[in-house]
Amino acid sequence: MEPKHFLVTGGAGFIGSHLVDALLEQGHTVTVLDNLTTGKLKNIAHWMQHPRFRFMCGSILDVKLVDRLTAEADSIYHLAAVVGVKYVVDDPLEGMLVNIKGTEIVLEAALRHHRKVLIASSSEVYGKSNQVPFRETDNSVFGPTSIPRWSYALSKALDEHFAFAYHRQRGLKTVAVRYFNAYGPRLDPRGYGSVVARFITQALTGQDLTVYGDGQQTRSFTFVQDTVRGTMAAMSTPEGEGLAFNIGNAHETSIEALAHQIRAIVGADVDVIRVPYAQAYGSDFEETRRRLPDHSRAVEILEFRAKIPLDVGLQKTIAWFEEHQDELIST
Ligand code: UDP
Repeated sequence: MEPKHFLVTGGAGFIGSHLVDALLEQGHTVTVLDNLTTGKLKNIAHWMQHPRFRFMCGSILDVKLVDRLTAEADSIYHLAAVVGVKYVVDDPLEGMLVNIKGTEIVLEAALRHHRKVLIASSSEVYGKSNQVPFRETDNSVFGPTSIPRWSYALSKALDEHFAFAYHRQRGLKTVAVRYFNAYGPRLDPRGYGSVVARFITQALTGQDLTVYGDGQQTRSFTFVQDTVRGTMAAMSTPEGEGLAFNIGNAHETSIEALAHQIRAIVGADVDVIRVPYAQAYGSDFEETRRRLPDHSRAVEILEFRAKIPLDVGLQKTIAWFEEHQDELIST
């Protein structure tokens, strides 16, 4: 692909910074817009002096800034969001504002300047559907509006609706990717928003691993390099425009099995204990029981499938956490 200039919103975040690495390594120019709420400068610090890299500290709610950066770029990876169920449960209002209004601002700017936009969505969009594996054409099943958790799923679903309406009604080139539990180096060591980070941190700091509920709930953990590869394939494939794609590992793992696997790789002398959901999230929490992508659409249209097995990805992730031991704090 010929070199392009990409605007990456949320480019200092976990997935965003890995995307930035891949884009710059492939010869592209990158502007990152990030307000550093959950993103971290150190995730992109290694690029700061690079001639093809620019960092702008700012918000996607800043209409003028988004407009200017959009005009200067060829295409936009829109990853900036309040992410993770726990953040959203803690502050649903901020989550909805950033995730809905922010996306609208990005799409409007893209329309003004005729720029292609990739929207980072989430497997949360399937809600509590039990029709696994999840296909992009399946129903979303959301809980009641009295339960704040579902505002995250709904905001991401609405983002997709926005993107596809701009595509159908205004001819804007848009595509959405639904991420399935990405993990890897640079996950927040506090483990906020990722069970992988939490378990690794617990194991490395000699704490028991806290499995919520019966531990039989599953997730399809996807190593971040696979996540990034799928994201770039979605951006570069014209046939994907106007569609959402599952970007995730086609293998599911129970949380209990994950805990035992992480404990074994770390070699930690700690227990795996059960914690009731109510204690972890409060009494009105609803859990997604199984989460597994059907990847046939991504395989057929994007020629993408996740490749990195969980044990390989966990070893790389744990090695990174070991190098950053000094940043680990009690969970
Ligand atoms: N979980 C757990 N112990 C923890 C943190 C999370 O058992 O200390 C469970 C959580 O209840 C969920 C799964 O791990 O079933 C994945 O949680 P995460 O927050 O990583 O992402 P989610 O897929 O729920 O958005």
